[in-house]
Amino acid sequence: MASSTDANISNENSTLYLCGCCKHAVTWATPAILCDVCATWYHTECHNINSDDYVKLGHSSADWLCYLCDCDDRSQTNPSYHTLSDSIHSTLSSISSLDPNSEPRHTSSPSKPKPSWTKGKPLKIINVNCQFLSGKKGAWAHLLEGARPDIVIATETWLDRTITNNELEMPHHTVYRRDRTSGPGGGVMIAVASNIRSSVIRTTTTAEILWVKLSCQGQRDLIIGAFYRPRVSDKTSIPELFSTMDNLTTRRAYDIFLGGDFNLPGWDWRSLSLKPNCPYPQVHREFLELTNTYELKQLVEDPTRFCPSNTLDLMLTNISLRVNKTTIIPGISDHDIPLVELSLKPHHIYQE
Ligand SMILES: [Zn+2]
Ligand SMILES: [Zn+2]
Repeated sequence: MASSTDANISNENSTLYLCGCCKHAVTWATPAILCDVCATWYHTECHNINSDDYVKLGHSSADWLCYLCDCDDRSQTNPSYHTLSDSIHSTLSSISSLDPNSEPRHTSSPSKPKPSWTKGKPLKIINVNCQFLSGKKGAWAHLLEGARPDIVIATETWLDRTITNNELEMPHHTVYRRDRTSGPGGGVMIAVASNIRSSVIRTTTTAEILWVKLSCQGQRDLIIGAFYRPRVSDKTSIPELFSTMDNLTTRRAYDIFLGGDFNLPGWDWRSLSLKPNCPYPQVHREFLELTNTYELKQLVEDPTRFCPSNTLDLMLTNISLRVNKTTIIPGISDHDIPLVELSLKPHHIYQE
């Protein structure tokens, strides 16, 4: 079972995913299961699923129905399974296959999953607001095993030089970090499946920005950015972000994928309009103008943080035609996690 520290860090009111029984948050800190009909999450404890059954369910391809849907199902001749969004199910049901007793494993563990990226498959990219990564090892391990990301963009890592990459338990990713050195909190990180050829791009900026390059076959190279804007009132980070992009793209053209916590709560991304109570509207407008300059499309339309509900964690790209899927999965902090699948051909490194 994940440690109580993990559970205590999650903010009960800030996630999209509330347990269908107890109405408390479902996060990667505690075992939970997704109903295949109503797409509601349940803590296994609340639904009286013991750990043996939970493991069996995780290995089974059969649909799992919650107690409400199970009753409905018996009273109908034609259960409407097709009403469930396949995309949500295929992404999220993987959480139900997690071993509830699993603790973070050591690098030497033989059962550690292999690098997730398989040549020819789309890249799975997640954008995680962490709020103290090294203090959430249980939830972090569950997230990596459940979501199997090829690329992790992380913000608010709260890491410092006393914490090594090995301690992050990501033996199958190459980890790039920019820890905050001017005080506590902050920090950004990009982790790329270690069988994909990647390298860090050195930039000079005072803002919390990190760029990593993936060399690709038969197409432009991809630059991946992680960005953290520390507060809504901040006026310097966004100009810094685009100044780094200017410097990178003046000499050659790149495909761009940028993620992070932008702290721009005033945008309604579905209607692409400012909310009536938008704070610092000028900063919000400047950001949109800059994204237009680089032909970046913002992919996340649903809220990633609740109470109040705001889309803070954004994913932007100039190759939106290659995006197969955008969805949101439970998080490890008071933010949920946007997930994108991108069709791309990065150079593969053959291993083992
Ligand atoms: Zn519950
Ligand atoms: Zn149900």
